[in-house]
Amino acid sequence: MYNSQVGITPGMQHYIDRNQAYLAKRDQYIRDVVKHWKFDTIAVHGLYSVEEAIEDYQGAIIEPIFMSSAQAYRDSDEMAAALAYLIPTWCYSRIANPSTYYYEWTLALLEGYGFSGDTSACSTSSGMAAIMTAVQPFLVHKEHHHHEPRNFIATAQCYGGTFQQFSVRLMEERDIECRWVTDPTNIEEWARLIDKNTRFLYGELPSNPQQGFFDIQAVADLAHSHQLPLICDSTVATPALLRPITHGADIVVQSATKSLTTSGFGVCGAVIARKNLMTNIDNDELRRDFALYIKYLPNRDYGPNLHPLQAIMTLNDMRTLRSKMDMLSRNTQQIAEFLATHPMIESVEYLGLPNHPRHELASKYMWLVDAEHDPQYRQPVNRYGHLMSFCVRGGAEAARKFFDGLQRIWRATDLGRIKSVATIPAISTHQQQGEAGRKLAHIPPNLVRLCVGGEHPHDIMADLDQALNRLNTRITTAHR
Ligand SMILES: *Cc1c(COP(=O)(O)O)cnc(C)c1O
Repeated sequence: MYNSQVGITPGMQHYIDRNQAYLAKRDQYIRDVVKHWKFDTIAVHGLYSVEEAIEDYQGAIIEPIFMSSAQAYRDSDEMAAALAYLIPTWCYSRIANPSTYYYEWTLALLEGYGFSGDTSACSTSSGMAAIMTAVQPFLVHKEHHHHEPRNFIATAQCYGGTFQQFSVRLMEERDIECRWVTDPTNIEEWARLIDKNTRFLYGELPSNPQQGFFDIQAVADLAHSHQLPLICDSTVATPALLRPITHGADIVVQSATKSLTTSGFGVCGAVIARKNLMTNIDNDELRRDFALYIKYLPNRDYGPNLHPLQAIMTLNDMRTLRSKMDMLSRNTQQIAEFLATHPMIESVEYLGLPNHPRHELASKYMWLVDAEHDPQYRQPVNRYGHLMSFCVRGGAEAARKFFDGLQRIWRATDLGRIKSVATIPAISTHQQQGEAGRKLAHIPPNLVRLCVGGEHPHDIMADLDQALNRLNTRITTAHR
């Protein structure tokens, strides 16, 4: 499929036939068994079966970590078939690896949970690598209207690294125009920005840190009416709370570093795509199975591969994703309600607060997966994740004093942890984009981002309260 120039010898055909049987069996296992499981079962088992473990991996109950740079072949026929991608293979760890394979399949199945079509995934070394490798194939130069710059449309409220990748690496350095959407809830704004040189629509939701959100279904419909794909960064929600592909998105990027790797053991990413996606790029392989395409071709050549050890550590964290996201969301709801009534707080941004301007829209999409099958709930329940932000009364200086007074909550540029972590975006994650860029993305200097962990909420509230109250006495003293 990827290398039609290769002549197939009878020896190669033998390997192709043998592997065809293997692939047919795997597809049947997915169709007849795995696709009937609930979310938790897929998260725990993925494609790694008892049968496979006993036949191939000496019965290891945990997916083995294949710390090997390359795979050996029986003979030249098998090697030729493998390197031409005519049989499933992992060749060389930059291209593929059995450990990253299990991680990829679990994520593909979780993002595709409840979707009638098929999904596949490509692992990457980080979330930024996932974004880069998801957007690059649509920015190829060969298409129409050479004299005009290619463009794409993206939500201005996005992760600071994404803002830099799009505005500096793509716009400034490569003459590719990024058209920012400032109010993504306004479909008219998206629509106005599309023209014949547009290659894709990109949206982060909920956005980090300001809780930006948009109507996925409506934006996907708009994209598709122009034969364009919709790419979503769904890092903050995770597939336990939101699965954009089931609502019409074509591609999802994950910084698996975050809530998918709650333990915080390392950096990791993934691109998950529906098969047969929408695009105006004339490339059948790309359209048919985007994740496999980027894995086998562009990423082979660029090399943003994930280490197998990290793949298994993340996979291990993902097994308990649903219950963790439920607990972390409930904790965050309590903290957000507490802060919303605190006299030293100017405003709180959390989609779970009923008076948040995007609460109703987010409530249409953000549900704890399988809550209706959970004896604790027996009905659908909304959950909004564990990222929130708030503005401290008294401006930038007060925000820093409060921040420095935190005792239990960690001061770090991180999120998604089982430990509560806070940062001030204007001096950290969104520092590089400057004043104008922050204004565009609505990041005031007194904004604090808080990602609530698994501690008891009372202990987190106590820490926030003591740090805020220090501020109060200082301000009062100054006024006396
Ligand atoms: C952290 C983050 C990224 C970047 O991911 P890395 O794994 O740090 O490269 C992208 N998008 C969002 C929403 C993030 O929070």
